[in-house]
Amino acid sequence: MAGKSTPSTLGTTSAIEDYLERIMELMDEKGYARVVDIAARLGISQASVTNMVQKLDAEGLIKYEKYRGLVLTPSGLSVAQTIARRHELLEEFFTLLGVTPSVIAHDVEGMEHHISPETLEAIQRLTEYLHANPNVASIIQKPTAE
Ligand code: ZN
Repeated sequence: MAGKSTPSTLGTTSAIEDYLERIMELMDEKGYARVVDIAARLGISQASVTNMVQKLDAEGLIKYEKYRGLVLTPSGLSVAQTIARRHELLEEFFTLLGVTPSVIAHDVEGMEHHISPETLEAIQRLTEYLHANPNVASIIQKPTAE
């Protein structure tokens, strides 16, 4: 389990988490991530991405090779997997509540970086409860129209 990442010299934690999350997605798809692909996913310039990946490289979270692309180091992968698990849990929770998938995708991406471990654990317990009690979940999904 990765510790809490608070690399103040890299900008906000949420920006770093977005990078690591996108890099892991690209690695899953292609085996490596390129600056051009990360820039496209994050909707920012390649220059900004290059600047950030050099910092992530210096922090030991990724291995940056200028002409080949980049991969996560074991410690970068560990952080990225923690982020991915958190994303999946929140997605599962809101799905159980009957929230529209496109709304879930948007909201989880925004809120996932700001949720504390304590709150996440509470959501995990509630998610498990709803799984074990599908009749309760269905009541929440279909509130009585007034
Ligand atoms: Zn996410």
